[in-house]
Amino acid sequence: MFEVRLDDVHQRAATGVLPPDLLVDDLIRDAHRRYATDDEGVVADYIPILGRAEPSDFGLALVDVAGHAHEAGDVQRRFSLQSVSKAFVFALACERIGHAAVHANVGVNNTGLPFNSVIALELNDGSPMNPMVNAGAIATTAMIPAGSAEARWDIVLDGLSAFAGRELALDEEVYESESVTNHRNRAIAALLQSYGRLDEDPLESVDVYTRQCSLAVTAHDLAVMGATLADGGVNPVTGHRVVAADVARDTLAVLATTGMYETSGEWLYEIGLPAKSGVSGGIVAIAPGKGAVGAYSPRLDAAGNSVRGQRACAHLSRSLGLNLFASVARDEREEIG
Ligand code: GLN
Repeated sequence: MFEVRLDDVHQRAATGVLPPDLLVDDLIRDAHRRYATDDEGVVADYIPILGRAEPSDFGLALVDVAGHAHEAGDVQRRFSLQSVSKAFVFALACERIGHAAVHANVGVNNTGLPFNSVIALELNDGSPMNPMVNAGAIATTAMIPAGSAEARWDIVLDGLSAFAGRELALDEEVYESESVTNHRNRAIAALLQSYGRLDEDPLESVDVYTRQCSLAVTAHDLAVMGATLADGGVNPVTGHRVVAADVARDTLAVLATTGMYETSGEWLYEIGLPAKSGVSGGIVAIAPGKGAVGAYSPRLDAAGNSVRGQRACAHLSRSLGLNLFASVARDEREEIG
């Protein structure tokens, strides 16, 4: 019989290492410099307060699994977490109710449609399809077991703070601005309820979801949160385990197929990393076993992904050898457009 020794398996599960710290510092600064004057894309304003973001802001951070930060630009600028929260709340839900329950109730396939699509629900018998679109995220948040919406919010806030390694706080202005304009999300929640896919009160479920989207974070925070997934669920800065290793792995699998909305395929093709973006301009891209990049720049493409953030991640994926599908670390191809 063919014998597999555990040591061998662990060695083969390794995905390689980052270059030395000083080189990572240089490459982050280089990626920042390259795209700092790129002014393609538009700042989102369908949530009115997001339109007040400074378009030229640009922060780029990489936190590795040793907990070291490598940064350039506006890495301490605060912005709201928005859809990036979906990735981490999904992990918190999986941790509490298990991989199979989330799969059965929410799904893990790409809708191929925008994040706030109502048609996607109608076309799929009310199934949200995945936890990274609004319908799936509202359903996922509502599945976290708790006695009340307030208790559920406490779990979400504590969990997201553990990912970030600091106590996160609500940006009250964003919460207010989104709460008075989120008619579409309320319609999505009502539709979920009509299909029997939401056990909790729809308005309360949207409210907890809106709060998670309104948490104030920085590009540095995103990198720490992502590095926790890269490190098998242990926050490499605080040393605390936030979720189990298999939950971190499952979260990354979902991010690879759905994290960048309907352009997740193009992202994976060019960059080769699980990632999640948010409409305020944040992106977290995770290199399992190595670390994560947190990017912030508020000008977005048509799908709602930060233009500079995507370009910087594409460049870093190549210069740092992060692409999960590459059998050779360096890729000298031209930049993507
Ligand atoms: N809170 C936003 C919404 O529900 C999040 C969307 C996003 O970041 N793509 O529309």
